[in-house]
Amino acid sequence: MFQIVNSIQGKARITIDASFLSFRSTSRCLSLPSQKLAMDIRYINQGKRGKVGLCNICKQSASLSWDHVPPKGGIDLTPVDQLTILQCLTANSDEQKSRISQNGVKYRTLCKQCNARLGHSYDPLLNEFALGVGRVLKSIVKVPPVIHYRTQPAALIRAILGHLLAAKAFIDNVDVDQKIRDFLFDEQAHLPEDIKIFYWIYPYQEIVVVRDIVMPAIRGNFSKFGFFSGILKYFPIAYLVCNLEKYEGLDELTVYRNIKLEEVAEIPIHLTSIKHPLWPEITNDGNFIVGGLNLEGSIYARPRKT
Ligand SMILES: [Zn+2]
Repeated sequence: MFQIVNSIQGKARITIDASFLSFRSTSRCLSLPSQKLAMDIRYINQGKRGKVGLCNICKQSASLSWDHVPPKGGIDLTPVDQLTILQCLTANSDEQKSRISQNGVKYRTLCKQCNARLGHSYDPLLNEFALGVGRVLKSIVKVPPVIHYRTQPAALIRAILGHLLAAKAFIDNVDVDQKIRDFLFDEQAHLPEDIKIFYWIYPYQEIVVVRDIVMPAIRGNFSKFGFFSGILKYFPIAYLVCNLEKYEGLDELTVYRNIKLEEVAEIPIHLTSIKHPLWPEITNDGNFIVGGLNLEGSIYARPRKT
């Protein structure tokens, strides 16, 4: 049995047997552990695994530090109400019990060295991108179909992938994560071709972080599926990491995968196709999601009302 999140309304507890759930990537087969998983959709395991544990990036045992996702400096760290993504997608509103974080969405999953490396090497660029695009959007009077923004796409790619690695409560042997680790530890490395990052305009204050789900490759067509390693959404851009050649007409950031870290490009940002804040993970007639343990650390966070 596996969990298809589609029309489960009002269920507070879900039981998953993930023994069968395997996903074949281009080269190797990923299998989730064969065990009975009892998942409470109210429970948020956000990677707070103690002050000492395995770092999600280098996998060494170390003193762990908090990683903000998205990073500090790219967003106001205000108090947020957090739900698990399962709770957000499936529970009735009166059953949704949020957990408060006083300063944004964060995961205690990185050693200090990996956290500092991510923070110093790539976060400034990702933060400048988010803040800069946000300023452009706020200054526009008549919205054009597309704007172009000068940035360093190779550094953006590394920042996004680094924080998605951090945003995982349970370390596992997912093939894609290991490829990303290898990539992050070698500044000369090219990202493997089967890892694509797409992006779109996201004019919302909610923060959404999702790891490791399977969804239809084409919405409404249940004959082919994609593995979505990560979804990261925060104002004003959302990102999607998956193994598909294309997804729903989105622009692809990884077309810049082979340029140098410091190289600048003007990347297009289309402004006229505004998606729902819970798109693409939202479940409806044309979509469902399948996931494992890391759904517990997949978060929907909204600014806390004062
Ligand atoms: Zn580390």
